[in-house]
Amino acid sequence: DVITVGELAKRMGVKANELIRELMRQGSMVTINHPLDFETAAILASEFHYEVENVAFDEETVLAHAGEKLGEEAKTGDLKPRPPVVTIMGHVDHGKTSLLDAIRAANVTAGEAGGITQHIGAYDVELDGRKITFLDTPGHEAFTAMRARGAKVTDIVILVVAADDGVMPQTKEAINHSKAAGVPIIIAVNKIDKPEANPERVKQELTEFELVPEEWGGETIFVEVSAKKQTNLDQLLEMILLQAEVMELKADPDKRGKGTIVEARLDKGRGPVATVLVQEGTLKIGDPIVSGVHFGRVRTMTDDRGSRVEAAGPSMPVEVTGLSGVPDAGEMFHAVEDEKVAKDVAQHRQQKLREAELAKTSKISLEQLYARIKEGDVKELKVIVKGDVQGSVEAVKDALLKLSTDACRLVVIHTGVGGIIESDVTLAAASDAIVLGFNVRPEPKASTLAENEGVDIRMYNIIYDAVADVRDAMEGLLAPTL
Ligand code: GDP
Repeated sequence: DVITVGELAKRMGVKANELIRELMRQGSMVTINHPLDFETAAILASEFHYEVENVAFDEETVLAHAGEKLGEEAKTGDLKPRPPVVTIMGHVDHGKTSLLDAIRAANVTAGEAGGITQHIGAYDVELDGRKITFLDTPGHEAFTAMRARGAKVTDIVILVVAADDGVMPQTKEAINHSKAAGVPIIIAVNKIDKPEANPERVKQELTEFELVPEEWGGETIFVEVSAKKQTNLDQLLEMILLQAEVMELKADPDKRGKGTIVEARLDKGRGPVATVLVQEGTLKIGDPIVSGVHFGRVRTMTDDRGSRVEAAGPSMPVEVTGLSGVPDAGEMFHAVEDEKVAKDVAQHRQQKLREAELAKTSKISLEQLYARIKEGDVKELKVIVKGDVQGSVEAVKDALLKLSTDACRLVVIHTGVGGIIESDVTLAAASDAIVLGFNVRPEPKASTLAENEGVDIRMYNIIYDAVADVRDAMEGLLAPTL
């Protein structure tokens, strides 16, 4: 880690000139912006009786301080209820987009800007004065890609299942992705207007995934809807609000704003434009912000109806301009005390990114697993199993589950028939899991992603080999691959 003379001085609370003088005494002529390596900084700090480990730029501390309460009179612990943030998932063609559009259309009143809405990646609706925020990139890919970056945005998942089609492969994936994230699921049984609709069959099929309706003694909320006919949409919103109430979702609106980038792009006229979801505090026009390696000042904020807003509180999505570059979806953003801090944090991250490029880190591989089990950091090995036929997937899964021991539990977080796809890799990356392929190969895009994310994919043709490798890893006997 590198720190400049000026930064080090600030951190130690001494004048930069004093440090420069001391460095000159030691024989180096430097300016205030001169970067110091760890060793030099440590030696210099010790001359002033400072602890060596504190010399590195501490992003956490800087950002924690930036998030402190604004205003002298504000008290801590002023948590106020906030709207739930919802993602819609489900199999292709089951009606995710239709449902998002129908809920939105039902909520835009005729008088409002001619009912014109903007697609900014998220919107909010109101039911009897209570708000709900919808992320309008449906599907589990975006959800899990965000989670792989450490973002926890979604409070509740709406799983859409078409009543004429039932549980399909992506339904199952969506369930596993939601469960892996620990997010509660509400089932929207869609297309009930169709003559061939069979909602009871959907309920029956979902019991297999421990999603049991309340009328059958379970705890899962089911709502039968039709996106096409706009049937029971208010009931769905009501159930979301009910679930949110149970969850007691709260945030403190009086802090500086922080949250997650939902999507971002480069606009020809306006420069980088990012849709942000405020999760804590309130973001205001003019706030200095930092997101990933980009920084700037909030120039404009626009809501999903194209209206200018001055401030955005918890769970409110707004489109923001004023950043120096286009951040990635899923990246955090923080409002900070001044633009200098924003710039420092962004530059420090750029530096770290360069260092990380040099020493590519990986998530988890079977080889690393044993070391981590021994150190006691891993109590669970999470596995995704893909195979050519259902029978072999089940056989591998059953054999693997028998390997669980007291020291290390084996959990199969997802299984599926077919090649290893990107969504398997994002799930693995988000959950620190490994992927086992049985008589299948990864798709090229999935391989590239696995390489970038450091996800371990292993291919087998013989069940015994797969099981033996995992057992050996758990017992620390594994010979490295290649
Ligand atoms: P997505 O792939 O999950 O986003 O599904 P879409 O929203 O694109 O819907 C797929 C198809 O199902 C479209 O042709 C929709 O018009 C149709 N659809 C969606 N919801 C309903 C519904 O409630 N009833 C009927 N009859 N058709 C629907």
